[in-house]
Amino acid sequence: MSLAAIDLSASQGAAVLGLLERASVPPLPSFYRLLYDYVSGVGGLMSNRVGDILEEGEAVGDKLYAEFVAPYENNEAIDRAIARITSRLKTLELLIGESTVAAERHAMSLRRASAEFASAELDPMLLRDWIVRLEAANRTLRRTNGKLEEELKAAALELEATRSALEDSRESSKRDALTGLANRAGLDFAFRRLIETMGSHGTSLSCAVVDIDHFKALNDTYGHPVGDEVLRIATRALLASVRPADIVGRSGGDEFIAVLPGADLSAAHSIGDNIRAAIASSDVQMALGQDTLGGITASVGVAQYRPGDTAKALIDRADRCLYRAKQNGRNRVESVTDPTAQYFHT
Ligand code: GH3
Ligand code: MG
Repeated sequence: MSLAAIDLSASQGAAVLGLLERASVPPLPSFYRLLYDYVSGVGGLMSNRVGDILEEGEAVGDKLYAEFVAPYENNEAIDRAIARITSRLKTLELLIGESTVAAERHAMSLRRASAEFASAELDPMLLRDWIVRLEAANRTLRRTNGKLEEELKAAALELEATRSALEDSRESSKRDALTGLANRAGLDFAFRRLIETMGSHGTSLSCAVVDIDHFKALNDTYGHPVGDEVLRIATRALLASVRPADIVGRSGGDEFIAVLPGADLSAAHSIGDNIRAAIASSDVQMALGQDTLGGITASVGVAQYRPGDTAKALIDRADRCLYRAKQNGRNRVESVTDPTAQYFHT
């Protein structure tokens, strides 16, 4: 990174902090990153909406969170873990309270006994009476301490279980770490669920496979981190182009899949072209450098579900169309049975 680029990102960082402060948005990393993209102008279509929200000026943090942060977070496991730990802590607090009271009572009994024995003659009746009382106080103390110890052991086990549940949820998470989109597992899950419900409802289902053009050359020229940033820019363009019920995933490398429930081939083709157009019009200058003229493009293959298809069969058909789109010049959409489909050039 050049010194000029560092200066530029420092001034953008300051601008982002200013925006966050003026809009009373907490400077959390997710908000910071969102507004950094906005300030840098790499937000593409998303930027308009972020700009509108900032201009409205009301509940900015809540709105940004609801639209741009929450949908990409997997909070369920964390929420469950927090609920479990909170309830454990409450029980522990009660037990510690009980145990403290029992210990204080015990200490008081001991003090009283010692005072009485200091002043009185050693009376066997009094002695027996005190032994009984001290034993009772001791039993109470042991019982509450025992309960506390058990609860502490249970809490330690619970914490360990929670830690490993969180780890599992991260490991088997259905999200791709770089883009926050569904990963292969997430896509499989979505396809399986949709194909199952299609059996009973018989609605349409299509998918679009999207692959960045000449991504390897871009990586080689600008470096892997810039390539990563371009993948995130493409992600935003994809999310801005699909309908709310569509599911977008990164199937690997520079390939994305949009699952399009309810879309027939022609609807899917037009969503595919929206995706293509949004990627082609993304502003990648910040990621690639101010002096870069070229942008990025992607090719898209589209296919519609046919009865009896597995998810793999459907994706394979869309993949073959993608291959054709690449062969026919890239930055275009091809779909399976649609010889009259329009091809788009920029
Ligand atoms: P085409 O137009 O035919 O798609 O050409 P291409 O260069 O894009 O070819 P291909 O799709 O096969 O290249 C994918 C490249 O993506 C190769 C690999 O180095 C790169 N890649 C895979 N995963 C990542 C990643 O997570 N980050 C970055 N920066 N690059 C990745
Ligand atoms: Mg590619």
